[in-house]
Amino acid sequence: MSDFYKKILDNNKQWVVDALEKDPNFFADLAKGQTPPLLWIGCSDSRVPANEIIGAKPGEVFVHRNIANMVVHSDMNMLSVLDYAVNVLKVKHVIVCGHYGCGGVKAAMGNQSIGIIDNWIRHIKDVYRLHNTYLDSIEDETERFNAFVEINIKEQVFDLSKTSIVQAAWKSGQALSIHGWVYGLNSGFVTDLEVNISSNTDLDEVFQLQF
Ligand SMILES: [Zn+2]
Repeated sequence: MSDFYKKILDNNKQWVVDALEKDPNFFADLAKGQTPPLLWIGCSDSRVPANEIIGAKPGEVFVHRNIANMVVHSDMNMLSVLDYAVNVLKVKHVIVCGHYGCGGVKAAMGNQSIGIIDNWIRHIKDVYRLHNTYLDSIEDETERFNAFVEINIKEQVFDLSKTSIVQAAWKSGQALSIHGWVYGLNSGFVTDLEVNISSNTDLDEVFQLQF
């Protein structure tokens, strides 16, 4: 058995010991159920662990992660997570958290084929096409990459708002805020991109659903 593999099993045992030392009922209480106030939609990148960077405990964050924190409206995995979070768990906030230096976003700016992932990255390329006049006007490649990361996050916030799930929640008066955050790998800080959408009237008319 590799050292790393053995180490993570040992780590788990130690984590249980430490948690029970702080609170003997920690796991017994968690086993009763969850009422997280937050759904986190983030990148799969190993350097952006949802709970850790916001100091959240088990039970506080419902998490969905994929490459480049995408909200693809025909993705049954994402839709199922969103539906459960909004309609069953009644989360108050959804955060789309992307990060600078995102490999998925970088790949979408280029032309190199990587494999089956090319087809996932096409969704990010669609975002580029939507904003290509602005993005192509940025000469510095790092600046353009950073701007694309931010624009992609904002577009995913809009894509969340366009779902029937979020629009129905707003229609019924449910308190639900959608946020876009960008995380700095080299600083540890998140920045709220302040994309404020709280009603479907903030969307282009063609996306506004009537119930
Ligand atoms: Zn990423």
